[in-house]
Amino acid sequence: MRIRKDVSLIDQHTFHADVTAAWFAEAHHLTDLVALLRSGVRPALILGEGSNVLFAADFPGLVIKNCLLGKSFRQADQVPGKGLVEVAAGENWADFVAWTLEQGLGGLENLSLIPGTAGAAPIQNIGAYGVELSDLLLSLEAYDIEQEKLVTLDKEVCRFGYRSSRFKEDWKGRFVITRLFLLLSAASHSLKTAYGDLESRLQHIPAEKRKPSDVARAVIDIRKSKLPDPALLGNAGSFFKNPVVEGAQFETLLNLYPDLVFFPQGEGQYKIPAAWLLDKGGWKGKQIGRVACHDRQPLVIVNVGGAGGEEILEFAKMVATDISARFGIVLEPEVNMYPPGKWLEDTY
Ligand code: FAD
Ligand code: NAP
Repeated sequence: MRIRKDVSLIDQHTFHADVTAAWFAEAHHLTDLVALLRSGVRPALILGEGSNVLFAADFPGLVIKNCLLGKSFRQADQVPGKGLVEVAAGENWADFVAWTLEQGLGGLENLSLIPGTAGAAPIQNIGAYGVELSDLLLSLEAYDIEQEKLVTLDKEVCRFGYRSSRFKEDWKGRFVITRLFLLLSAASHSLKTAYGDLESRLQHIPAEKRKPSDVARAVIDIRKSKLPDPALLGNAGSFFKNPVVEGAQFETLLNLYPDLVFFPQGEGQYKIPAAWLLDKGGWKGKQIGRVACHDRQPLVIVNVGGAGGEEILEFAKMVATDISARFGIVLEPEVNMYPPGKWLEDTY
């Protein structure tokens, strides 16, 4: 294992901002990971494919790239019709989903083509088209940096929520996820197609004849037609979470904007697509300097070419400040930022 000094991260994260890590190493085995974490170099940051991070400055410590590989599946003896799947944290998520489908397993099809590693998926409980990782996850294996040992964490203790988990809250920085355990369907798949454009894309296949792979193909087609490829246009997917507002604020917004798009969440709460707010606020396709809101999906902030992390951060703050002034809604970033804490301190 090689530890390198002053390494450019430009190709290690999908915003492609030209920042440097003071130290950088790849962990291909658990023993590498443990040795690096025990080296005492701090701060230490675990990086997967960098598709959900924004580096607003050089990283002063050790970046550890997670390259742990391996996956397997067996029939679940206790649960007929189910398959138990294990995947190491460094596996590419999209390839892993495609592999589960090739094994005849269902459940992950709506999560096709999400960039990044399997190990990062629990951090924000990745989700798309009405399915979240936590719907299929049983437990995970992680290295506890505090106690210096491998632990198994059942899904229940991870407090998964909408694009959230304890790994982004009180457990931030404590665990390195090394392996996931999932329970997928091996027969009698129950497909979820009610979301967004998905059902209309599947209209040509009678509902009873649809397979998980049909849903995956539709998801992949929609995503390819709508989202910028980070290899061509730097981005980290949705920059902000979709805000959820309470009844009174919702009524006010609906009176002001009869065309408001919203999704009732129960208990008097309503999810408003952040993309709708950005579109309404004139941010769709808007470019300032070398940063823009994407012209097909404004929630995706893109590096048009050569922007640094600080410039992207300033643009995102401008967007959030404007949305707050227009609609009284505080947008919360979904992307993980380094250095942490800069966002909330400076923006509101
Ligand atoms: P990174 O960006 O490398 O890391 C993200 C965070 O997790 C960092 O804080 C990092 O320190 C931490 N981390 C990474 N690996 C580990 C580990 N093994 N243990 C502990 N901490 C770790 N997300 C969705 O939920 N749904 C989508 O549909 C979706 N679509 C996207 C589309 C595009 C075009 C892009 C660019 C991003 C999209 N995302 C989406 C966001 C992103 O793909 C996910 O958040 C993904 O899980 C990030 O994986 P990564 O390996 O790149 O993580
Ligand atoms: P879309 O289908 O145009 O829908 C816009 C928003 O409306 C989505 O964000 C979605 O919320 C919400 N929505 C749509 N149908 C809904 C329903 N039936 N019930 C509740 N909410 C509904 O969205 P899109 O941008 O093309 O993305 C499609 C899916 O991929 C979404 O689930 C989105 O979250 C996911 N995605 C995520 C990222 C990321 O980086 N996090 C990037 C691209 C796409 P939700 O976001 O809560 O699902």
